[in-house]
Amino acid sequence: MEPEPLYSAAELDKEEGKGVEALIAASAEPIPDPAEWIDEELQRGVLITTIDAFINWGRKWSLHPLAFGLACCTWEMFSSHFLRYDMARLGMEAMRATPRQGDLMIVAGTLTWKMAPAVKMLWEQMAEPKWVIAMGSCAISGGPFADSYSVVPGVNRIIPVDVYVPGCPPRPESLYHSFLMLREKIMHDSIVR
Ligand code: SF4
Repeated sequence: MEPEPLYSAAELDKEEGKGVEALIAASAEPIPDPAEWIDEELQRGVLITTIDAFINWGRKWSLHPLAFGLACCTWEMFSSHFLRYDMARLGMEAMRATPRQGDLMIVAGTLTWKMAPAVKMLWEQMAEPKWVIAMGSCAISGGPFADSYSVVPGVNRIIPVDVYVPGCPPRPESLYHSFLMLREKIMHDSIVR
């Protein structure tokens, strides 16, 4: 005989809804660019530029993107990994299936409030240092669904974003350009962070 479930489907939905409502309430303002935090740290006068340059050089050549996608932009992200564009040139062809091995989250597509807690949890499970690229107008600002009750008006409401890639969808070339921008940003990072 099947055991009785502890909670009904309606009760579980209600609990999940409470979590989403709490996240919406806590996400009224965009999170500032992480680089601003770095500036604050550097203003404390710590001089470690040589070590930084060495470590950042290694980091920029060994990014491991997290393999996940949300909507149509995902297909452009996937195509950037195929032979025509060849991410191996940047040392980032190995997409990871677990956040514990990834250091780059590419948010490609429309993020709904229902999905937002899962994306936030993935980001929290990634080890530092980690970076986020918001790919496409949906990830940047909600895109064509910005006024919808169910769509997050920009992924920077729930996690800090390093680089934004405009477009609907952006072409793989645009995503590539964002990788170059991110690599430049990484070179200005500091272990103080
Ligand atoms: S930005 Fe355009 S292509 Fe990308 S997920 Fe939104 S609607 Fe789809």
